[in-house]
Amino acid sequence: MAAKAITIVGGGLAGLTLGISLRQRDVPVTVWEAGHYPRHRVCGEFISGRGQETLSRLGLRELLERAGAVSASTAAFFSATQSSPPRSLPTRAICLSRFVMDELLANGFQMLGGELRIGQRWPVVGVRASACPDRLKPELQPEGVVRATGRRAQTEENGSRWFGLKVHARNVPLIADLEMHISPRGYVGLCRVDGGAVNVCGLFRRRASEGDTPQNWPRRDLRGWREWLRGQNGSPLHQRLAGAEFDESSFCAVAGISLRPQRAAARAECCVGDAITMIPPVTGNGMSMAFESAELAIEPLAAWSGGEISWAETRQTLAYRCDAAFARRLAWAKWLQQMMLAPSLQNALVRFVARSEWFWRTAFERTR
Ligand SMILES: Cc1cc2nc3c(=O)[nH]c(=O)nc-3n(C[C@H](O)[C@H](O)[C@H](O)COP(=O)(O)OP(=O)(O)OC[C@H]3O[C@@H](n4cnc5c(N)ncnc54)[C@H](O)[C@@H]3O)c2cc1C
Repeated sequence: MAAKAITIVGGGLAGLTLGISLRQRDVPVTVWEAGHYPRHRVCGEFISGRGQETLSRLGLRELLERAGAVSASTAAFFSATQSSPPRSLPTRAICLSRFVMDELLANGFQMLGGELRIGQRWPVVGVRASACPDRLKPELQPEGVVRATGRRAQTEENGSRWFGLKVHARNVPLIADLEMHISPRGYVGLCRVDGGAVNVCGLFRRRASEGDTPQNWPRRDLRGWREWLRGQNGSPLHQRLAGAEFDESSFCAVAGISLRPQRAAARAECCVGDAITMIPPVTGNGMSMAFESAELAIEPLAAWSGGEISWAETRQTLAYRCDAAFARRLAWAKWLQQMMLAPSLQNALVRFVARSEWFWRTAFERTR
């Protein structure tokens, strides 16, 4: 029997990694990607966690390293008034711009014979859920279709709106490979990426009543994003970025972020990456989860393609594997982010990271 074809909706990290790994097993695959390559994405560009092993197993890590991925081995934390000295990362991370990485994977997928439909949006039609007639839920995908469409947009969560901003800069002196600057309105991560640039990426929240988020900003409202990313006057972040030369062509923004953990088993579709759920970006583990979930999907999808199991079994197996792999780290990450964003705890947290090796290692390891 001829192998059944798989369609992957979304050519981001999860979709392309899955596409590559299925092509490595000769499964026929088409990836639909609404956008184009190369493109900048809002992302800290800091890959930390088990996904690095996935990349090695799939032969992709070397590809990223050859493209200039920078190795990171230290991190330092800052609040508006406190700072921790650089600490060793219990395991190394790698940093590579999404501008380079997504295109690299897209080319790799095509070189393996995958069909990539660039600039084509798969029609995810909304249908009214009977239990909740005011809200739209995505229509079930037909058999053989995997959802890798990234985060599910949500305008508001507990009265707050989350949004992310990212820009590359030069002339930013760092004392550690990753610097994490926290403030009551969010956090900004700084890390070196390929080509000698420093990625400046922040996650912020606004009360819904405060009005505009980036979706509504004019495309190049420079004053707005600079102020958010630079942080409070006099803070260590503000000092770091004092002489920064921003590459404005790399600026991007995203709004409607939901950080409430979801279970894969609760999804009616076969999903990988952020389409399952998003882990708080402070962990630097979202890309890892995209790679890991793609790897977890290979075997069930290849078995479905070969006619060995049904689509329902495929979906259940993948969901079970993802929940088993991610549930604990999602719970820890939620807790960590809540602590980081509580203004009364921020200084104490930075002091704690500075003094307690146990706390640092535990927080690092449990969120990966
Ligand atoms: C502020 C911020 C900072 C972050 N920092 C980090 C970090 O430092 N480290 C880390 O590991 N992670 C980080 N992340 C998370 C990381 O970016 C995501 O986890 C990762 O991009 C998920 O990959 P994905 O493939 O699931 O989704 P994406 O990379 O978002 O890809 C989804 C793709 O699907 C396409 N698509 C959507 N709908 C359709 C459709 N209907 N038809 C066709 N195509 C479609 C989109 O165009 C997109 O290309 C951060 C996220 C944010 C918001």
